[in-house]
Amino acid sequence: MDLKVRLIGDPVLRKKATKIEKIDESFLELLEIMTNMMYREDGVGLAAPQVGISKRFFIMDDGKQLRKVINPEIIEFLGEESTFEEGCLSIPGIFLNVKRPEGVKVKYTNENGEIIEEELHEYTARIFQHEYDHLEGILFIDKVSTASKAKVKGKIKELMKEGKRIAKELGEVEIK
Ligand SMILES: [Zn+2]
Repeated sequence: MDLKVRLIGDPVLRKKATKIEKIDESFLELLEIMTNMMYREDGVGLAAPQVGISKRFFIMDDGKQLRKVINPEIIEFLGEESTFEEGCLSIPGIFLNVKRPEGVKVKYTNENGEIIEEELHEYTARIFQHEYDHLEGILFIDKVSTASKAKVKGKIKELMKEGKRIAKELGEVEIK
């Protein structure tokens, strides 16, 4: 499987991803590959659409725990909104402040097929929300102020050109 990090401009990043139906050997292998990819790229999260797969799962590591998150749901947003600088492997070199709720109550399936329900806060909640957005076709730059978006307009335009080129070359990656 030729997996490559997809850049803004790639239509797969703008699609609403669909549910994973079953966790089998080849899917677990894919999770492993993506985990290695995330660490290699120095990311703290990597969602399936970011490697061209329009499915609802992502990997994240907040520095305390590696989570493999399948078919996630955000049940409730908790606490006040907070502002934090975010970046994204699909929008390399751009870091901007994003406002998000401080915490989330979430439910998902892990790689062992167990249903996990937990409350996440601060940095962990931040990563979860960012990755969850990827499954909805939302990128963090959609959530920044018009003023800060204006500052990176040129760079985004360049990235989009490259993103479209990669999309044309690789297309969407289908998994069963
Ligand atoms: Zn991202």
